[in-house]
Amino acid sequence: MGSRKNRFRRNKNRRREIAESAQGYLAGIIGEREDSDPEFIDTVARQMWKIGLRHRIGLPPAHKHWICRGCRVLVRPSFNARVRIRGGIRITTCLQCGYIRRFGNGAGSGSQDFDDSHDGRPELSEG
Ligand SMILES: [Zn+2]
Repeated sequence: MGSRKNRFRRNKNRRREIAESAQGYLAGIIGEREDSDPEFIDTVARQMWKIGLRHRIGLPPAHKHWICRGCRVLVRPSFNARVRIRGGIRITTCLQCGYIRRFGNGAGSGSQDFDDSHDGRPELSEG
């Protein structure tokens, strides 16, 4: 009976879908084990980053603000990052590499780095 050959069709959209669902999967792992397994989570975060890079899809909106652009670990406030909110701007400092990111609508500063500021993670503590 027929031996089925799995031909790989080069379909960009399909590949993108696969990549996105892989990221979703990794995001789920992060959500589950964020607190229990920090080193593993860093690996997962890097993996997620790589997928986003390779397929040019970036990071899932819920996570893109939470992966350090400097060292690509998951930014975890009070664990490896410091989060300050000042004048409506969220300032995240990665304690591992010192990378600082700012999100928000601060008046004046020209170097804002956010595209969708409301990513559904409202539970930040101040200070
Ligand atoms: Zn970092």
